[in-house]
Amino acid sequence: MRRLLPREKALERLNEGRFDLLVIGGGITGAGVALDGASRGLRVALVERGDYSSGTSSRSSKMIHGGLRYLEHLEVGLVREAVRERDLLRRLAPHLVRPLPFVAPVVRGRVEAAALSAGLWAYDLLSLFRSVSAHRTVEASWVEARAPGLAGRVPKEALVWWDCVTDDSRLVLEVLKTATALGAVTLNHAEVVEFLTRAGRVVGAVVKERLGGESVRVWARRVVNATGVWADRLRAMEDPGGPPLLVPARGAHLVFRRQDLDVRVGVVFPSAAGDGRRLFALPWGPVVLVGTTDEREEGGLDRVAPTPGDVRYILHALCSYFDLDLGAGDAVASFAGLRPLLAGEKERTADLSRRHTVLLGPLGMVTITGGKLTTFRRMARDAVEAAFHDEALPPSRTASIALAGSRVPPEQLEAEGASLASRLGLAPELGRELAARRGEEGLEILVWSAERGLAAWVEPGLPWVVGELGWGLLHEQAAGLGDALARRTRLSLQSRDGGLSGTLPFLPHLAELTGRASPSLEAELREYAAKLKRERGLTLNPNAEEPVRA
Ligand code: FAD
Repeated sequence: MRRLLPREKALERLNEGRFDLLVIGGGITGAGVALDGASRGLRVALVERGDYSSGTSSRSSKMIHGGLRYLEHLEVGLVREAVRERDLLRRLAPHLVRPLPFVAPVVRGRVEAAALSAGLWAYDLLSLFRSVSAHRTVEASWVEARAPGLAGRVPKEALVWWDCVTDDSRLVLEVLKTATALGAVTLNHAEVVEFLTRAGRVVGAVVKERLGGESVRVWARRVVNATGVWADRLRAMEDPGGPPLLVPARGAHLVFRRQDLDVRVGVVFPSAAGDGRRLFALPWGPVVLVGTTDEREEGGLDRVAPTPGDVRYILHALCSYFDLDLGAGDAVASFAGLRPLLAGEKERTADLSRRHTVLLGPLGMVTITGGKLTTFRRMARDAVEAAFHDEALPPSRTASIALAGSRVPPEQLEAEGASLASRLGLAPELGRELAARRGEEGLEILVWSAERGLAAWVEPGLPWVVGELGWGLLHEQAAGLGDALARRTRLSLQSRDGGLSGTLPFLPHLAELTGRASPSLEAELREYAAKLKRERGLTLNPNAEEPVRA
């Protein structure tokens, strides 16, 4: 089974080893670069300043998609690449990249219908018709059956197509675990604070382990900067006079329970601000994500959160279109992330390209940034080839390496999970759920949890199992309960209190498992609660002390 190295061991290996490639940044881009390098037989090290995916890669809209709207900007190459990656990732990680129908009700009549339909023909064509099924026109009754929240408001027809959804943090972790299985050494909470140079080239970095404070020197023949919106900071360390490359654009989401917003397919709907933008309501496990905004971030990179303006924009569009009366207080969570967009001529960040770029710096460091979650594999390939542009490299093998998961079809594995749970005297749903989300590893986690008294839901009605917290702490470098709750499970995005109260009764079990004292786990929970409050931002309007309403 694939695991991450224990943190102490990873630190030791970083300290001792000499690497071919040092990757800075443990979001999806860095994880992809580590996997690509390891798949070519390179000795790879990766360091991440916070927790894996704690930057933008845990805050995306969670779609693995071509990005239909980029066709409006005539970004045909980008869409072609993205739809093909979508279809490949569905095969490499079937339990993690799941198809979902999306529907766009036609509101503005024939012209709109014709334009959308033309876009969808192109979308199908670019994926060489390998999507789950080609787009089609459906009647209002089809939509109402799958989006009861829209009942009575759907125009006569709507267009339906298929894209995919994922758990972005889990995707990062599985890519990292796959890279580790191929020999990569990865460490989180480890920040690059200085470069090591020799003969005018970057040949490694001083890395500060942020929990213990120890600094190690990591030597590598090549260095890739995959730090997303922070890429300019690292570039400035290499080339203090160099011009900035990026414009950070904030995207916010609100999260609702299914009973408050009943949609079972992705629904694309217009903003109510007359800016021509579209939003989506996306079923994601037990909740529905609604987003997103696209605003230039002026407030720094390290404390991003939805603003009252973001919340109002989303609520206004949602409530106008669905005829609902929802306020921010009805949301179970909210989150925002920063898109690392390449600076360009366009005024609105929504109009800036989602392409990626690879740059070779004056001291030989390669920077890869921009792009999308969906296209991480291609981005990684380009970055590794740029870093070793002057050497013959074995080819990348990532197009054929399964990303964790299972060799058997998801439905069969879910049935196996349910029957294993029954044999263990547990609710079948526990096993079905773990197998559905985690593939074969889910069955191992089920047995492991049952043996340790952790085979229970963290919170009723949500699909996360206490054992996943323990597993994350022991086998996936979760450095504390905050990492475990936010990114080994997704309770921070699905539970009103982030899973805090559900975790409390299990602290003695988790303390025994990790060898930590209960008070130190309690302190971790307090720290997590404070962070959650900050990151959810101004769901409650501090000026009015009233929930923001549409
Ligand atoms: P990040 O995930 O930010 O990773 C960079 C990492 O570098 C961070 O974790 C950071 O801590 C680390 N770092 C920084 N400095 C240092 C240092 N000195 N030392 C060590 N580590 C360091 N794409 C899609 O395909 N589908 C979507 O639905 C989608 N929706 C989106 C919605 C929103 C609101 C946003 C903002 C983006 C969305 N994207 C989507 C785009 C996608 O999420 C990003 O392109 C992608 O996550 C960027 O990943 P990254 O690894 O480049 O950056």
